Amino acid sequence: MQRAHTVHMPRGFYVGRFQPLHEGHEAVLREIAAERNELVVGIGSADKSHSVDNPFTAGERHVMITRTLEDVDVDAYVVPLVDVDRNALWTSHVRSLCPPFDTVYSNNPLVTRLFEESDTEVNELPMFNRQEYEGTGIRERMLSGDPWEHLVPDPVVEAIEEVDGVGRLRDVAADDEAED
Ligand code: ATP
Ligand code: MG
Repeated sequence: MQRAHTVHMPRGFYVGRFQPLHEGHEAVLREIAAERNELVVGIGSADKSHSVDNPFTAGERHVMITRTLEDVDVDAYVVPLVDVDRNALWTSHVRSLCPPFDTVYSNNPLVTRLFEESDTEVNELPMFNRQEYEGTGIRERMLSGDPWEHLVPDPVVEAIEEVDGVGRLRDVAADDEAED
């Protein structure tokens, strides 16, 4: 008798820093979910937080991902990935921490290159409205007081408000020389 866990269940893999998760990421996740039953989502730079480029912790980003995926038909396994700062080792590092996956979904040239060099199939993804759906621009809006909430899924707005994310970003961006 064949046991359930011996059934081949090919998983996809998608990695990002998700600082924060935005509508572009959600569109990608939905696209992968249309093709795959199971997905591994890597949280890149998991060890980074409380900085202008990486304001949110791995746990906070985990919340953004799992809540956004609640109404998406896919079984997702979210894995925090600390930086190793050695690109040649990075795919081995990823594999050492994640459940098995057979295909990488990416539109990042470095991620694509590194996985292809380690003989992993890469499916190239399109960019969705990259003018607006870009983490850097969204963090700049948070700092300058411009509206940003329409650029991220509703559960992400809640996750950010829950930790006073905008206040945190402004505090870590503040120049401490101003206090001298
Ligand atoms: P940052 O400006 O902070 O780098 P980002 O928007 O590039 O933020 P990342 O977390 O770096 O977000 O991206 C994770 C992955 O999602 C990358 O491969 C990136 O190319 C991809 N991605 C980012 N924005 C979009 C988008 N609008 N549409 C599709 N894919 C995107
Ligand atoms: Mg990026």
